[in-house]
Amino acid sequence: MGKIISIANQKGGVGKTTTAINLAASLAALEYKTLLVDADPQANSTSGIGEDPKQVKAGIYECMVDAIDPYECIIKSEIDYLDLLPSHIDLVGAEVELVNYDEREMKMKTALEAIRGDYDFIIIDCSPSLGLITVNALTASDSVIIPVQCEYFALEGLGKLLNTIKIIQSRLNPDLEIEGILLTMYDMRLRLSNQVVEEVTTHFKSMVFDTLIPRNIKLSESPSFGLPAISHDAESKGAISYLNLANEIVANNEQLAEMA
Ligand code: ADP
Ligand code: MG
Repeated sequence: MGKIISIANQKGGVGKTTTAINLAASLAALEYKTLLVDADPQANSTSGIGEDPKQVKAGIYECMVDAIDPYECIIKSEIDYLDLLPSHIDLVGAEVELVNYDEREMKMKTALEAIRGDYDFIIIDCSPSLGLITVNALTASDSVIIPVQCEYFALEGLGKLLNTIKIIQSRLNPDLEIEGILLTMYDMRLRLSNQVVEEVTTHFKSMVFDTLIPRNIKLSESPSFGLPAISHDAESKGAISYLNLANEIVANNEQLAEMA
């Protein structure tokens, strides 16, 4: 059974999509069969691995709202072991339409339940909101990764996100865990960056991943080539750091499996 991990933070620009694409590609590089689910109407994960959102006829939206078979929407990417369940702009409408449905928080869970047996990991890129689609993603997930940008106001909004996670744990998904807080866009030369790392690790301790994601040009430019960083420049600091993150997650989950 594949492990389902959401990448969530209602704050925009913190590195959710960059993390979703590059973590998924790194897990695939380690030969784990991986599905990247684009649950953001901006469809940046879809275009970031080289698919044109305008060509997408059906994606996660249709799976949720029209109960379309996810197998009809899944696209094999150019990368071995990596598939995409894409998004397109209509996902904006899903938020509104879903409100009228019974069990409206469970639609993504139902859709992914049918296919999770085919994958080792399913990575969901969430939108910058705590609306119904994100609630669906968190309800469908085993765990959540929270990217936090090493910038001013890094912790802003984190309380609200953690509170939302608590509510989902108590009402919709008691098994939801926090996989980890991921510090992104770290610049070792900047005092501010180091202060944020210190503040976040003091506050959240072992919840914070050992892997830090540096600010790296290869990470910001690779989406314009429709590639994850590991395919664009495997030697870059950005690509290597996401590979380290994938290894850290795999190791943490093996430890858990041994303890169980
Ligand atoms: P989100 O999905 O949370 O809105 P993105 O992943 O799209 O955030 O990142 C926001 C912007 O920052 C994008 O332009 C992206 O290319 C850039 N970016 C993200 N992570 C890094 C990084 N580690 N180094 C350099 N640029 C980054
Ligand atoms: Mg995004």
